[in-house]
Order: sequence, then structure tokens, then C-alpha cells
Amino acid sequence: MTQNLGLPGVRLLPSAPPLSGGLADRYGRRATDMRLSVIDKCNLRCTYCMPADGMAWLPKQMLMTAEEIVRIVRVGVEILGVEELRLTGGEPLVRKDLEYVIGAVHAACPSLPISMTTNAIGLDGRAQGLRDAGLSRINISLDSIHPETFAALTRRPMLDRVLAGIRAADDAGLGPIKINAVLLRGVNDHEAADLLEWSVGNGYELRFIEHMPLDGDHAWKKEKMITAEEIRVGVAARFVLTPDPEERGGSPAERYEVRRRGSGPDEPPLGRVGLISSVTEPFCAACTRTRVTAEGRIRSCLFSHEETDLLGIMREGASDEQIAQRWREAMWGKPRAHGSDSVGLSSPDYVQPERTMSAIGG
Ligand code: SAM
Ligand code: SF4
Repeated sequence: MTQNLGLPGVRLLPSAPPLSGGLADRYGRRATDMRLSVIDKCNLRCTYCMPADGMAWLPKQMLMTAEEIVRIVRVGVEILGVEELRLTGGEPLVRKDLEYVIGAVHAACPSLPISMTTNAIGLDGRAQGLRDAGLSRINISLDSIHPETFAALTRRPMLDRVLAGIRAADDAGLGPIKINAVLLRGVNDHEAADLLEWSVGNGYELRFIEHMPLDGDHAWKKEKMITAEEIRVGVAARFVLTPDPEERGGSPAERYEVRRRGSGPDEPPLGRVGLISSVTEPFCAACTRTRVTAEGRIRSCLFSHEETDLLGIMREGASDEQIAQRWREAMWGKPRAHGSDSVGLSSPDYVQPERTMSAIGG
């Protein structure tokens, strides 16, 4: 018996987790897209993500080793039907053995697409090696192409190094490159059209991500965040956005074709832009994500208050099937929406999870 929740495609299924098959949840979704954090440390201090002094980093022995990462990914792929892997952090490039990790995962699961989200610091010297190891694609975070704004936002004057990293990723064939940007009111919101101009001009797809209440300073305020609607309006003086005719599928980004204002309707688009409106227009009903933290814990949702330890049972000698079952159970409990079955992110009753974005792996 299923219960209709009034949300398209979301139905409540019976309450016991399955004993076989993939990562299903009670609402009929299936997670096939694994986000795995390889490290919690970072070399930038983006104000919307981390406190100025950083965080209490995990001791090395708590981080998954390369072999442990491979085993978790292999269980995900071979037993649970995971179809794609994105590596994230913290900053994945801070991990010195990243090439080895990727090479080992690629050797164990050769047909698994492996992508990565990075701030690109140091990527200029490593892009080709990462590609050779088996990395397929890359998303790079860049919130401003103006050095002063970049430095204010990341608390580090390193724009040149990021731009060098982006060029190297392009040269190494890690495209199509996506650029992730978070806009903050009074900091870089007036630069949205500049960033879009730069991105389409270089052949990159820009994705604006709404600022989510997962920041280390716990300073997020709904009134302060820039909404997807404001972004659409903000770039409209220079560009016309029309919905991309391609299927959105499980993507969190609503995609648009970008044309210069004043160009004819038959002119080909300059490129595409995505809006990830996790706060104002959440896409939970079609979510396909399962998340693994750097210390091997499963989170069924970015905003979860619960996590399930896989690394602990693995180190105690659990079999692949026992690890897979614990993972199924964790995902079966995935909330209907954003960390809770009933409260939205904009609600006064929303409680920010203890873990911040960099400690989860965004
Ligand atoms: N350090 C890497 C980077 O910045 O690309 C990977 C980890 S970072 C947590 C992943 C993505 O999360 C980045 O694109 C970043 O802009 C985004 N992010 C971090 N904190 C956020 C927040 N509070 N709201 C929305 N996006 C956030
Ligand atoms: Fe580091 Fe990425 Fe967070 Fe910026 S967004 S502080 S680069 S983890």
C-alpha cells in the first residue's frame, strides 16, 4: 500500500528497508549518484562555507584510506547500483594521494564515470595526472573573476591560481567544465553577469547555487540570500535566458540557454547556465544522491541530522553484503525533503545540521 503525499512522483512506501537491490527510500526514489568526500580540510576560507580560522580537522586515522574508499565505491557500484561518482571535500586537491585514489577506483570500477568538485588551487600542476588516473570531468568553484572580490570572498588572494587551474583542466580534456558560483548580497551579487559573460566566453557552463544554511559561521539568513529569481533578473539586462529544451533528469540545476540581449531569436545560444535553487525551489522529489563523508559515514541528505557509519563496521571486519545492507538501511530513512519530512529550509523551525558543507562534502 502506498500513500500519496501530494508531491509529483513522491509516494510513501512500506516501512521496512529492502534486503536486496539498490538504494531505495520510502518515497520511491533510488540513489545512483554517489558524492564522496576524500578529505575535510581546505586551503580557502570561503565566507559562505567556513569560518576564518578553519575547522577542527579530522585526524588522519579517521579519514578513509585509498583502499577503504575503493571498497566503499565498489560495494556501491557492484551491489547497490551506483552509476556515477563525484569526489569532493573539503578540498580534494589537498589530499596528496588523490591521483592514486582515483587510479585505484578506476581500476576497480572501470566503467564508472568519476567527476570532482574542486577550488582548482594547485590543479595547474595536476590536471593531466588526474585525467590519466581516470578522472572524467570537473566542476570548479569560482565566485568572482575580479581579484579583490575573490580575495574578500575566499579570504585568500588566489584568483590567478584558480584561473591557471581551470586552463589546465581544459587543456587536459577534463571538460565539459562546469563553474559553480554562490552569490552573496553586497559582495559579488552585482557581478553575476560578468561571471556569466566570462563563462560562456570560455565555453564553460556556469551554475549559480543558492547559498544554503550549512555555513561554518552559522550566519545564513534567508533575507540575505540571493534567490534564483533575483539571479535571473540580475543577468537580464545583458542576457536573455530561455529554458533549455534538454531533459533535466536527476540534475539539481534548472538549465537555460543564454543569448545576448538584442540578438535575434534564431541565433545559436552563447552557452548554457544552470540555477540550483536548493532553498527557494528545492528539487528533493527527484533527488538521486547518496553521500559519504571523509570518515566513511553515509548521509542520505545534505541536511540530514543522522548519519550511518560504514567505515567503523568495515574496520571491524564486516562483509561487503553487511556494508551494503547498512547503506540500504541508511538510505531507506532518507527524509522526504531537506533533512526533515515536514520542515523546509525557509521555515523558522528549520534547524541547521551540526555538520557544515565542507565537512559533509558538498
Ligand atoms: N572545495 C571544493 C569546492 O569549493 O569546489 C569542494 C567542496 S565545496 C563544499 C563544494 C561546493 O559547495 C562548492 O561549489 C561551494 O561553492 C559549495 N558551497 C559551500 N558552502 C555552501 C553553502 N553554504 N551554500 C551553497 N553552496 C555551498
Ligand atoms: Fe573550501 Fe570549497 Fe568550502 Fe570554499 S567552498 S571553503 S573552497 S570547501
